[in-house]
Amino acid sequence: MIMSDKVKKHVDSCRFCWMCHHICPVGNATGQERNTARARALGISLVNREAIDLSEIMDNIYECATCGACVHDCITGWDPVMFTKETRLQAALDGKLPEYIEKLVDNCLNIGNAYGKTAVCDTLAASKANHSAKTDTLLLLGTDATYMACEQGNKAIKVLEKAGVSFTVLENEPDSGAQLDFLIGAADETKKQMETLKDAVAGYKTVVVYDPADAKTIKQTYKEYGIEVDADVVTYTSFVAELVESGKLEAKNSGKDVVFQDPFQLARDLEETEPARTVVSAFACLTEFLLNRGETVWAGNILMAQYMPKVIEEVAKRRIFNAKSIGQSVIVTASVSEYTALKAVAGDDVEILSLEDLILA
Ligand code: SF4
Ligand code: SF4
Repeated sequence: MIMSDKVKKHVDSCRFCWMCHHICPVGNATGQERNTARARALGISLVNREAIDLSEIMDNIYECATCGACVHDCITGWDPVMFTKETRLQAALDGKLPEYIEKLVDNCLNIGNAYGKTAVCDTLAASKANHSAKTDTLLLLGTDATYMACEQGNKAIKVLEKAGVSFTVLENEPDSGAQLDFLIGAADETKKQMETLKDAVAGYKTVVVYDPADAKTIKQTYKEYGIEVDADVVTYTSFVAELVESGKLEAKNSGKDVVFQDPFQLARDLEETEPARTVVSAFACLTEFLLNRGETVWAGNILMAQYMPKVIEEVAKRRIFNAKSIGQSVIVTASVSEYTALKAVAGDDVEILSLEDLILA
């Protein structure tokens, strides 16, 4: 396996210690030692030393959510997300992707998204059609909200309508490249997908990005690929917080006790934690998880549920358990993917709400 020197250094320098062991949401959900950063580094290091073949570790490489909790906790500064993503790229180049990943990648390349979906639900299609005219502001819904959780995409539109914002939604919105970046890392195909999105948003002054995974990709990962988007790219959470603060979005506090689930892409990658709290606090009474902001624990996503659904269910159940442990039964999310994962396993004693649910209630 041909790895860059930088990544090799991170693999070789990882001490395979226990310091990031306890915080891996996947490792905690499965209870398996292999689902930790240290085990993954050990596996890659064995491949680099030609002790085992790359194909032997690929299932394990795709069990990482790239949530960055281990990166955040590694006091020696090593980056398991970096070496995991580069291993995915190498497997793609060497033709050693697991079949179930190859299928998702093929869907991205041939259909435009990993799910292979082309149909949008009627409600969302109608809402989008109301915003087809060109304005200065583009609302980018993202693949998950468009094809897998269209009611959430619809609510995102309703919130901006409620605030009287004039905005556009693209009829055929390309994926930001976040899916390919997760599946095969920095491949030429990933860059091409990102450039397609860049072209699609050209001419807008402001691009409001609804999905935190897309926001992280466009605001941070694009720079690593050398892609510059001309528009002012803002997260949906920060845009809505400004609407609340300026009074354009009238807030009425329901007095409901809620706990806020920070999406790792906002809290760790973009270091944006307070705008969502501004919104939650305006509409409800905010409590914090014990692990919040940059310490947040990932609660699952839609993409990984395509190939490891049981584990994602367990990941989400554990986050609900965290809420119950501090006496909270209402979880507010700012990620369409986490909302979907949590909602899928929540029993009658727990309520999962999005920020939009709070605002539109
Ligand atoms: S990434 Fe850091 S904390 Fe985690 S096992 Fe390696 S050296 Fe230890
Ligand atoms: S990035 Fe997240 S899922 Fe992957 S090893 Fe680190 S803590 Fe676990």
